[in-house]
Order: sequence, then structure tokens, then C-alpha cells
Amino acid sequence: MKECITCGALYDLTEIKLPVHDRDRINCLFCGTLLIDWDGNLMYAVKTLSGPKGEEGPDNR
Ligand SMILES: [Zn+2]
Repeated sequence: MKECITCGALYDLTEIKLPVHDRDRINCLFCGTLLIDWDGNLMYAVKTLSGPKGEEGPDNR
């Protein structure tokens, strides 16, 4: 699990091994802050768990 350092949104990042080289990055969907970048035989799948702090989340209903 990864929390955006700027807005507090929570993401689930899953590392996926690749047979080829990949270089990319994932930015926060809400504020654009860089969450993770990579340069190698892998990539990351991202799933949004909750939005910026103060908005609706799994433990806040
Ligand atoms: Zn953010």
C-alpha cells in the first residue's frame, strides 16, 4: 500500500514482472504527485483504495 505524500490518497501497487524492459511512472490521480517510477523488467499495476484525506474511504462510512 502506498500513500500519496501530498494529498493522502491511498493506492495499492502491485509489482508485475515483465520479460521486457519497461520504464514508466505512476502519478497520483488526484494531485499529480509522483507515486512510483521504475526502470527495469517490471511494471506496477495501480488500484485506488481511497481518495485524498477527508473524503470517503473504506474505513470512513
Ligand atoms: Zn495525491
